[in-house]
Parts: sequence; C-alpha cells; structure tokens
Amino acid sequence: MNIYDHPTFHMACQQFDLVADHLQIPTEDRARLKYPKRALTVALPIHRDDGSTQVFFGHRVQHHLTLGPTKGGLRYHPDVTLGEVAALAMWMSWKCALAGLPYGGAKGGIACDPSQLSSTELERLTRRYTQEMIPFIGSQIDVMAPDVGTNPQVMAWMMDTYSVHKGHTVPSIVTGKPVGIGGSLGRREATGRGVAYLVNRATDTLGLDLHRSTAVVQGYGNVGSMAALALARYGAKVIAVSDVHGGLHNAGGLDLMALEQHVARHRSVVGFPGADPVANDQLLLLPCDILVPAALERQITEANAGRIKCRILAEAANGPTTPEADVILNQRPEIFVIPDILCNAGGVVVSYFEWVQDLQSFFWGETEITDKLFRTLEAAFVQVVGLSRKQKIPMRLAALSVGVKRVHEAKQIRGLFP
Ligand code: NAD
Repeated sequence: MNIYDHPTFHMACQQFDLVADHLQIPTEDRARLKYPKRALTVALPIHRDDGSTQVFFGHRVQHHLTLGPTKGGLRYHPDVTLGEVAALAMWMSWKCALAGLPYGGAKGGIACDPSQLSSTELERLTRRYTQEMIPFIGSQIDVMAPDVGTNPQVMAWMMDTYSVHKGHTVPSIVTGKPVGIGGSLGRREATGRGVAYLVNRATDTLGLDLHRSTAVVQGYGNVGSMAALALARYGAKVIAVSDVHGGLHNAGGLDLMALEQHVARHRSVVGFPGADPVANDQLLLLPCDILVPAALERQITEANAGRIKCRILAEAANGPTTPEADVILNQRPEIFVIPDILCNAGGVVVSYFEWVQDLQSFFWGETEITDKLFRTLEAAFVQVVGLSRKQKIPMRLAALSVGVKRVHEAKQIRGLFP
C-alpha cells in the first residue's frame, strides 16, 4: 500500500504482523484487518492575514467501520502525512476495541505549524478542513477529537462549521469541545488522568511505592501536563519535563503549579527558574521510576532502549516505542511497559462518554465520569496484565492481541458483503 508509505505506518504494520502471527489469524483475513477502509486528502486554500493565499494539505483516514462510527484525533503538525495518519488510525482501532468501545479507529491531520498561524488563520483553516470533510464525517460515521496541535477551541470551530451546514446544532460531531457547548466534564484531564491511574495500578502490581517514586515526562502539552499533575496528586515527584523547545530537570522535584503559570505566560517550559536545562534525548535517559513519553512517535528507539533507566514506561504518546526498541525492552524484564493503546486510552474513553452524553442530551457529573473512566481502564488493565502473564508475552503484544482479536471476530461475525 504505497499511498501510506511512512516509517510510522510500517511500524504499525510490523506490530500488526506480530499480533496476527501470535493469534494465528488466517492469511486471507490479514489485509482486510490491517489496511484502512478509506482515506481522504484535501487541499485547503486559506487567506493569510497579510492578504496572501496559501494552500495546506489535510487528511482523514478511517481504519475500519465494523463496530460503529470511527473515532480519532485531529493533528496539526508540520510533519503530518497520510501514512502517519493511517498508522495513528490503525492504533485507534485496536485501542477502542481493547477498551470495549463501539468504534473503529480514525485519525486526521493538517500539515501546518500552528505556532506560525494567528488565531484567525487557524480558525479559517479549521473551518475549511471541516467543510471539505463534510461528505466524509458525521455523528454516526466519524467523530474527531483534539490531538497534537489542536485543542477545545479547534473542536468548537469544527462543531460550529458542521452545525451551520446542517442547519441545527450537532454537538456529537466532535468530542473534546469546551464544556459550555456540549463538551464533557473531565475530558481535558482524561488522558493524563488515565495515565496516572494505570501507573498507580502498575506500581501496585510491582510492589512499588508511588509516594516515593520519581517521574520524567517528555512533552508538556495536554497529555503530558495533565499526566504530570495527576502523578503528583498520587504522590510521585516529577523531576523532569520537556517540550519541543527543550527540557528541565530538578532532582528535588519541580513545582508544577508554578510551572503551569510559567507555561501559560511563555508557551514553553523553557526558562522556568529553579531547574537545570536538559536536552530531550538526555531527558529520556534520566534515572527515574516512571518514564512518560507524551510527545510524538518513535522516541524510544534501538539507540536508547538499552539505556533508559526507569521501572515503568508509561506510553502516554501514540507509538513512542519502535519495534526495534521493543526487542530490546523485551529483554529488560525490570521495565514494566504500559503500552500506548492501554496507557492513553483514557482520552478516547471520555470522548466516548462525551459522544453518548451529546446524543442523549443528558449530562453527567465529573465524579460519575471519572468513576466510569477508571472502571473501564481497570477492566482493560486487568485483562492485559492477565494475558501477558498467562501467555508469558510482552504487555504490548497482550494489549494488541485483545484489540485485534475483537475486531477480527466482529468482521468474521458480520461476514463479507457480498
Ligand atoms: P499537544 O500538542 O497538546 O502537546 C504535545 C507536546 O509535545 C507539546 O508540549 C510539544 O511541545 C511537545 N513536543 C513536540 N515535539 C517534541 C519533541 N521532539 N520532544 C519533546 N517534546 C515535544 O499534544 P497532546 O494532545 O498532549 O498529545 C501528545 C501525545 O499524546 C500524542 O502522541 C498524541 O497522539 C497522544 N494522545 C493524545 C490524546 C489527547 O487526548 N490529546 C489522547 C491519546 C493520545
């Protein structure tokens, strides 16, 4: 499938092939499970603030529609390609199935640098993308959410554009919206909160004391910052964080409240007083109990997997660990991996709750949402740890096995038309 040619798509395919072998999925079923059902690429001309016109390229990939509508984030980043988006869509499929959600996976993106666009330019780009996507999306077809470079405001513009086109308000077209227009309480915090919940469960499993643990977080956006705060609430000491501009390290622990104010003012962790600068590649090698990659794909590679010094690798980002790194990690039993499709599933779980609330126009309190989130994650965690132990397989293989098997079974039950 040359249209998806990209290192991240190859990585997702390599992982799938390992699982398909493990599950002994018949060869004739594999391509149908692996390749996306459909994809749309659009050219997006917008007026820049200086009066010029610029064309951006956007994509949306829907991986499978066997279990319901597709669900997945929208990414604004200069490196977005169709292949990267396809890989992220595939992972969303296995993640939703692992969590027992009635969705297939999807992902979208626009190749752009949002930090170089004004708010009005971002709005025009978002509305243009939504307009172009109208034949391809819908509350029962494909529902978007925030990812790297997008936020609740972007979702609000999408919802508004779609609703204006339909002639009535359609909150269920996106999740991760502001609460004031049908967003869910607890959605902004959900991914990071889920990461911390699962880290806490991993420390139980390993007999570690989270109160005496140290954590290092790569990427300080929505997921990384919320995970850091939630880990601190469980008693962990966050000793290093980073963003695309650089990192900070203080072995005595960072003051996260003060850091939040610094980031709000400077839009970066860099320059925060009371901590030493650390480069992103060095940050991953700092000795700690919990290492949380929460930025982009392919950060733990064969070059550094043998040198990371943590007890728990909590994959808050999607695809942070390459298959080559997995081979090395599989020979390091002292590291407990919480694989991405489990570790960051809290986001899509609460997105699902948001969609359900929007469809029924009846909203739940935050306690109810957090309680339902933790129950869902608990069930997935117990299942993955149980399978990993029973079959003596790595946690990633166990998690992917549960997800892929569910989608395979659903496809078998529905049959092939005609
Ligand atoms: P975000 O845009 O809010 O934050 C991304 C962060 O990563 C920023 O701080 C950015 O500066 C930093 N970053 C980018 N490149 C980096 C690099 N090379 N080194 C260090 N830091 C770098 O995005 P997000 O929503 O927090 O998403 C982060 C990851 O979590 C992505 O892999 C995303 O797919 C995944 N994820 C997000 C959600 C969600 O609910 N937002 C849910 C599940 C998974």
